[in-house]
Amino acid sequence: MSRPALLSDVGKVLIDFDFSIAARRLAERCDHPAETVMTLFDGIKLPYEDGRMDDAAFVREAIVATGFRGSPAEFEMIWCEIFAQNEPMYATLGALAGRLPMFLLSNTSGLHKDYFLRTFPVFRLFLGGVYSYSAGCSKPGEEIFLKTIAELDLDPARTFYIDDLEANIATAARLGFQTFHYSFARHPQLQAELDGWLTVQGIG
Ligand SMILES: [Mg+2]
Repeated sequence: MSRPALLSDVGKVLIDFDFSIAARRLAERCDHPAETVMTLFDGIKLPYEDGRMDDAAFVREAIVATGFRGSPAEFEMIWCEIFAQNEPMYATLGALAGRLPMFLLSNTSGLHKDYFLRTFPVFRLFLGGVYSYSAGCSKPGEEIFLKTIAELDLDPARTFYIDDLEANIATAARLGFQTFHYSFARHPQLQAELDGWLTVQGIG
């Protein structure tokens, strides 16, 4: 069925994130400085987000790698408390609630997904989504976009896709999506393009 839909990235679009917050808190409880502690995750962060490592294995390996002095639950809290809702986006999409289906497409992990879905009201506007850790592949590759189209029954020609990374936008555009390369500073342009697109789709 062909119907208009909106598909959105998560990080730096719906929510901001700042890993330096976690770095400072971890540094207080291990023997590595805040400036370098995040580099200790280089070897495990991508396998984790691509679903090759589960939550428990990631937390265990992270605690070993950093020498973190605390429980797995305390580590999880520090790992997840790095996000803040993008309020202009919440206002823009809140005004669209019930007028077209909205979905998520994110390179993320199980811990982060569970945390942002339960923490920020903007995610209540979405009917579902596709996530790299459970899809077993990630953006900007085509595979995860093709899975998303099939799973969510999207018609790219009638789907408005928002992402902050140029490489992801390029893949989406190649597959026929209507795209917008987002940044917090470009929010007014997003609003204008979205309003124009909604009118064309008969949802104005
Ligand atoms: Mg992003």
